[in-house]
This record gives sequence, structure tokens and C-alpha cells, in this order.
Amino acid sequence: MKIMSINAGSSSLKFSLFDMTNEEVLASGLFERIGIEGSCYTIKYNGEKLKQEIELPDHSVAVSILLEKLVELGIIASLEEIDGVGHRVVSGGDLYKESVLINDKVIQDLIDLKDYAPLHNPAHVLGINAFKEVLPNTPMIAVFDTAFHQTMDEVSYLYPVPYSWYQDYKVRKYGAHGTSHRYIASTIEKELGRKDLRIISCHLGNGGSITAIKDGKSVDTSMGFTPLAGIMMGTRSGDIDASIIPFIMEKEGKNASEVIDDLNKKSGFLGLSQLSSDSRDIEKGVLEGNKNCILAEQKYIRTVVNYIANYYVLLGGCDVLVFTAGIGENSSSTRLKIVEKLACLGFDLDVEANQVRGELRKISSKNSKSLIYVVPTDEELMIARDTLEIINR
Ligand code: ADP
Repeated sequence: MKIMSINAGSSSLKFSLFDMTNEEVLASGLFERIGIEGSCYTIKYNGEKLKQEIELPDHSVAVSILLEKLVELGIIASLEEIDGVGHRVVSGGDLYKESVLINDKVIQDLIDLKDYAPLHNPAHVLGINAFKEVLPNTPMIAVFDTAFHQTMDEVSYLYPVPYSWYQDYKVRKYGAHGTSHRYIASTIEKELGRKDLRIISCHLGNGGSITAIKDGKSVDTSMGFTPLAGIMMGTRSGDIDASIIPFIMEKEGKNASEVIDDLNKKSGFLGLSQLSSDSRDIEKGVLEGNKNCILAEQKYIRTVVNYIANYYVLLGGCDVLVFTAGIGENSSSTRLKIVEKLACLGFDLDVEANQVRGELRKISSKNSKSLIYVVPTDEELMIARDTLEIINR
């Protein structure tokens, strides 16, 4: 079975093609600047990389070229070999608790949910429609970032604001990175051979979120109504006092969306360091003694540790603490600094084992009360697995 995993943005389309007999990636790549001058695509396959500049007026053209190239490069013999296409979808609101087969109603729901992911959901629909044109008989599945967190109870997902905001407009916590946290939970379950686990999953990338997982279900998560909430991130503030927004609007003569833009794009590592949103630059700055970088890193660690401690209590303890995504998988120093602050809860690293990048490994010491793991996340594979499972049903 060959399954395509798709992540369509407003001007981009990322894909991975899997052979699901062994979950091997046959090809992957990116179509960029769709509808913008200077568009191009990259396809990686068989250890080779093809990059080409080409006009991509819309998503349909990108999808046609992608499928043509897969055949032309001999990656597949014909389009009939693609058994299903899984689409990443940012918001399923509170309508979708798991992945679904896409039909006209699902597409309409994605359009109706656009207020909850204005940049993403309309772009996903473009991607879905583009595939529908070229592969009208191939089943397509939607895999939602929010779905995994639909198991949160109302104490976790409600905000202490007028209840009518929830009743009238569905203002609540939806969370994000659900596909990644679900992948982490299932990988750890497999690794330890049991499901009755309290897992704290730390997805620390450019965007970041932490999820409390009990018996395979999300109990609470740090992102909120949108991905702006929770821990500090590359360019996002994470949790702040909402009163700052009107205050800055008045001081800087900005409207609300401009201030939200500052909180999404000019805050976090970038805001505090005044240097970079990339944790590698921050780490370098710390080594050079740059004060702003030191402050940015300390604040980052503090917000991450606060959420872990919070979820430790919520779960009544922690069996496994997991680090994943760009920073979580690669930065041994960030992991060390986080776990050091958690010593009072009995977390302890094996400093040697912690010298690992991007591979599944236990990094806790024998003395640690909880296991600590690095697990490389794989949202594309999770999407492909869901797609295969739904097709087989
Ligand atoms: P996203 O998917 O949210 O865009 P990623 O999961 O790719 O982000 O994570 C990006 C972050 O991971 C950046 O801050 C980057 O500095 C960090 N990162 C990536 N590789 C490394 C590395 N080898 N060492 C330290 N940090 C890394």
C-alpha cells in the first residue's frame, strides 16, 4: 500500500509518499511560493534531490506536477499505485475527535471552521480540492491537529471568562500538535509494552507545546484557543496577561491584530534576545555571554519547567517525560537545563545518554523516579498510518 501524506499551506505544499508495508519514505518534498513569483519545488527520493524553478499559479498545478514527476522519476509506475491521501488539518474545532474520510460535508466543515485557523484551514481545502481533481477516486483522509486534545475535560478546556463566550462562539482551549503528541504516546506505549502510562510530552520546536497524557489520552495541553498560548516559543510569547494588548495598542497606535501579530511573530526567543528565533543562535549567544540570550534561555526553561510541574501534579506523577521536535530532539543542553530544574520531583538525566540527536533513546539515569526519553516525532507517518487504517476499515 502506498500512502501520500500532505500538508498544504496557503502558498506551499509539503508531501511524503510512504510504502506502508515497511513504513518507508519513498519520496518527500516541498512545493513553495505557489501563486507567488519565484515558485519552485524540491523532491527527495532514493538519496537524490531534484530542485526546479517552475511557475506554480495554484495548488492544482502543483499537485499535477507532483504526480507527474512521481511517475516520471520512476518512484511509482502509475497514479493507481497511490492508495490514499492523508491531509494534515490544523483545526477540526470540537467537531472532529479523530481522523475522518473526507467527503463534501467534511470539506464544508473545514471551511466553516476557518475562524479557528484563518491561515490554515482555507489552505487545506485548496490542497484537498487539488487532489480531488487529479485523483477523484482515491480516498482522502483528514487528520486534525486538534483531534487528540478532544479528550480534555471541561475543567481543562474552559477559560474562566463569561460562559456565554463558550456557548455563543466556542471560545475554549483546542490545543495543537495533537498528531505529534499522539505519535509520541503510541511510540512510548510500544517501547514500554504498556498503555497505562502518565506521559508528559514536550514538543519543543519553533512552535512548542506540552501535553499531559494519561492512558493514551490527552488530559491537558499548553496551547489554547490558538497556538499562541502556553510555553514561550521561537517567535510566540506563550501565556501573557491579556491587558498588555490594549495597553500596547494605545502606546504604539496599533490595532488588535497588529499587536497579536507582534505576539506571534516578534516575541519569544526573538523578542527577548533581540537577535534570533532560532534556539541554536540563542545557545551560541549564551556561550558567548550575551545577556539577552541568557535571559531568553532562562525564561524559556522557566516556562517549560512550569508546565511540566503543573502536569506532574495534574497526572498525580509522571511515568515518562518525553522530549521531541527540533529543540527537544537535538539540544542536549536545553534538556539538561530543564531536567536539572525538575530534580525536586525526582527527575534525573543520564548525562552521557543525553548526548543524543534525533534518535529514540532513554536518557534518564537509574536514580530517576520517572523515565525520560528522546523520541523523534513523525507527524507525516502518523497521518499515513491513520489514512491506511481508515481505508482498511
Ligand atoms: P517547527 O516544526 O515548529 O517549525 P522544528 O521542530 O523544526 O520547528 O524546530 C525548530 C527549532 O529546533 C529551532 O529553534 C532550531 O534551532 C531547533 N533545532 C533544530 N536542530 C537543532 C540542533 N541540531 N540543535 C539545537 N537546536 C536545533
